[in-house]
Amino acid sequence: MNLILLAPEALESDRLARVTDPRRLRHLREVHRARPGDRLTLGIMEGGIGQGELLTLDDHEATFALDALDQPPPPALPVHLVLALPRPRMLARTLEHVTALGVKQITLLHTRRVEKSYWMSPELEPEKIHRHLELGLEQARDTRLPAVTLEKGFRPFLEDRLPGLLAGRRGLLAHPGMAAACPRGIETPTLLLVGPEGGFIPWEVEKLLEAGCEGIHLGPRILRVETAVTALLARLF
Ligand code: SAM
Repeated sequence: MNLILLAPEALESDRLARVTDPRRLRHLREVHRARPGDRLTLGIMEGGIGQGELLTLDDHEATFALDALDQPPPPALPVHLVLALPRPRMLARTLEHVTALGVKQITLLHTRRVEKSYWMSPELEPEKIHRHLELGLEQARDTRLPAVTLEKGFRPFLEDRLPGLLAGRRGLLAHPGMAAACPRGIETPTLLLVGPEGGFIPWEVEKLLEAGCEGIHLGPRILRVETAVTALLARLF
């Protein structure tokens, strides 16, 4: 937690914040080992970032005297990530990593090799997703939450949603064995598609290429989803 992310209701006034969330209190005590008088970085959800002085800390609440929280969060990556739904634990980690890296639009997609049971996972409950996104924001000192959309059918996604998503974006389909290497250092708005643990099936690859996506590879090493996503984002942007 490199940033204490405040919900707007944590603000008692412009200059005073009260934190009561047990996770954040525990982190302040056990990781920061914070003491009254310490200065820490705080940010308001969807708002600015600045410093504050810890006034009080006990088992139930922490209070902060705030400086102006007027610094902007870091810039977002120009990417919409379409991720075939991974297994729940990998989903949790991947959401955290991609949020920390600055992704603001995420679509979780069903493809043939996604286990149907993954769609029933408690990890997909909105509060759970929110929690992973918050952890990513706090890690990276960001305040803007990504939007997460669930697409439970590949064909409706392909026919109804993909054309709109590709309007004004460069579509990149990450798939081992594609002819082109993943580009480096681009700034173009991009739609990046990453497959499930078993990969995209040939029919899905064919349809995504027909729809206008470019196939790209990351070399001969087949990476786990969370590693592949991180490597792709780092290399692309
Ligand atoms: N056996 C699967 C296959 O060959 O497609 C492996 C899938 S991999 C564990 C999961 C996803 O990560 C892939 O669908 C792809 O989107 C991405 N990925 C992993 N390694 C990659 C590589 N070397 N090049 C491009 N994409 C890769």
